[in-house]
Amino acid sequence: MTDVRCSWCGAAIEPDDGYRAAEQAGERLAAFCRLEHVVPWAIQGPHWGAGTLTPQPREEPALRACAHCGEPLDDTRVLLVRHRGEYRIADAFCTTDHLRAWATAGGRWQ
Ligand SMILES: [Zn+2]
Ligand SMILES: [Zn+2]
Repeated sequence: MTDVRCSWCGAAIEPDDGYRAAEQAGERLAAFCRLEHVVPWAIQGPHWGAGTLTPQPREEPALRACAHCGEPLDDTRVLLVRHRGEYRIADAFCTTDHLRAWATAGGRWQ
C-alpha cells in the first residue's frame, strides 16, 4: 500500500515509521527511514520531491522557533515529523542546514 521510500537510501518506509521532512511554503517533501539519513541527504543536495504533509502537523508554539538555533520561524521553515506508531512528533527548523546540524547531533534525544 505504501509507496514512501527513503530520500537517501531508497528503503521502503512504513506509514507509522520513519521521518518526513517538509518545506511547507515550497510544497516540497522528503522521507527518511532513520534520522541519520537526513545528514548525507542534506549535504548532497538536498533533493526534495513535490508534496505536502498529510495530515499537516498541529500548529504549536514549539514549531514557531528553530529547534537548533531558536530563531523565530516564518512559513519558509522546514518541518521534520517523526512517525512512531500512532504518534507524530514534529520539529521545525529555519533551514535545511539547521535540520542537518540537529540530526547530526542526534535530534531530540541527543
Ligand atoms: Zn534511509
Ligand atoms: Zn536555525
